[in-house]
Amino acid sequence: MFNLILFGPPGSGKGTQSDKLVEKYGLKHLSTGNLLRQEIADKTPLGLEAKSFIDKGQLVPDEVVIGMVDSFFELHKDAKGFLFDGFPRTAAQAVALDKLLDLKETGIAAVLALEVGEEELVKRLLNRGITSGRSDDTNEEVIRKRFAVYSTETSAVAEHYKAAHKFKSIKGEGSVDAIFDSLCAAIDKKMN
Ligand code: AMP
Repeated sequence: MFNLILFGPPGSGKGTQSDKLVEKYGLKHLSTGNLLRQEIADKTPLGLEAKSFIDKGQLVPDEVVIGMVDSFFELHKDAKGFLFDGFPRTAAQAVALDKLLDLKETGIAAVLALEVGEEELVKRLLNRGITSGRSDDTNEEVIRKRFAVYSTETSAVAEHYKAAHKFKSIKGEGSVDAIFDSLCAAIDKKMN
């Protein structure tokens, strides 16, 4: 298996680049944000619980997210690899992911981190909010809260993979195609 983590703050382009990467490399896209939004749309108990956190810009509890990832693995046992997008977001999630992949006798090949300045991110998210209908993208206070959570909780994930020498920063500003090319160059280096 070949597993990648696409890392970066909200609005850094993970979703856009994930769509292109899964198509090129034949990986299964695992976006915990998308899975949670689907649970909310389906009005499941998990979705109802998650919504209260998402609307405030807070993280959904680790056990809820890890359980969801575990179920996703069960559903996609034949995947040739996964592209993780928006997961892991805490040190505990990173440890849990390592364990789950260990059970499958695989691991993370690389963590590619999209680097974008905060003012550019706010601009992108507010723009996305106009078209996406995502309530957490329309309120600047919620957006700033998500950045605060990213720096207090999610930066530990970067440290986790830096220690394992798997972390690589990629410039996330510029054209979608230029950023995609940088990501592909980093991935191809890992594959060969
Ligand atoms: P995203 O679409 O990845 O930006 O996620 C939207 C929201 O879903 C986040 O602000 C969190 O509230 C929640 N969420 C998504 N992924 C996770 C995760 N791995 N851990 C905790 N909460 C998450």
